[in-house]
Amino acid sequence: MTLKDKVALVTGAASGIGKQCAIHMAKAGANIVIADLNSDGAQATAKEIEALGVKAIGLSMDVTSEDQVNAGIEETVNKLGSIDVLVSNAGIQIVHPIEEFPYADWKKMLAIHLDGAFLTTQAAIKHMYASGRGGSIIYMGSVHSHEASKLKSAYVTAKHGLLGLARVVAKEGAEKNVRAYVVCPGFVRTPLVDKQIPEQAKSLGISEDEVIKKVMLGQTVDGIFTTTDDVASVVTFLAGFPTAAMTGQSFVVSHGWYMQ
Ligand code: NAD
Repeated sequence: MTLKDKVALVTGAASGIGKQCAIHMAKAGANIVIADLNSDGAQATAKEIEALGVKAIGLSMDVTSEDQVNAGIEETVNKLGSIDVLVSNAGIQIVHPIEEFPYADWKKMLAIHLDGAFLTTQAAIKHMYASGRGGSIIYMGSVHSHEASKLKSAYVTAKHGLLGLARVVAKEGAEKNVRAYVVCPGFVRTPLVDKQIPEQAKSLGISEDEVIKKVMLGQTVDGIFTTTDDVASVVTFLAGFPTAAMTGQSFVVSHGWYMQ
């Protein structure tokens, strides 16, 4: 129970990777806050997690809204007493060739991935400093924090940006025991990826099967998707790690697709 009595807030945790991170951290003893744009999903996931024997609350939060983020973190601290772990995970994908990428979509991508990471960090870190306990901030990066792919200019730009943010938070937070990490999954079969398969097939002029076998898994060592469990295990390990030995680092979880 490495996270016993800690409070962990996960954004975008009504689905996919974020939900599995919340479940793993609950099993390690943490009380959990599910913060998601999908309010019903957040409530339902919180109920599932309560059944694991910890406290859990579901919050409606758009990570691009400063007011909603600040209110959600305040509610977390008021109801559960602290915030010790932040997993900034909420994210979407929009793919286009760069010459056709609508500027509004570019701005939306950077707002969710980067503004969301900044706003949740700023709101949470104040409490981590004030509590005297410090904390762990984990950004959900991607292999695309290190590698590029066609059609993903906004996503690759945003995911690379998280490496910079984590390094600054690692340096600024060190004195007060706040650690920062980026976890970088390969392709994980979640709704975010399912939506991309037909879109990429159309844009690249290949079949959906070829998108999976060549584009998504072609460079892995075993031809299989990274799982939400793979990612959640690493997140839980980092959330409970007791020293600053690895702060500022990124951790690629990709079945060998990208080796640092
Ligand atoms: P998902 O679609 O299953 O879940 C994303 C969640 O984020 C949803 O519950 C959605 O409601 C929520 N969300 C979207 N916009 C939001 C906002 N503005 N505010 C709050 N919540 C919002 O996706 P996933 O695959 O689990 O992705 C989670 C994270 O993992 C993303 O940051 C994504 O970029 C990253 N990632 C995913 C993969 C993959 O292959 N699935 C690979 C690498 C990185």
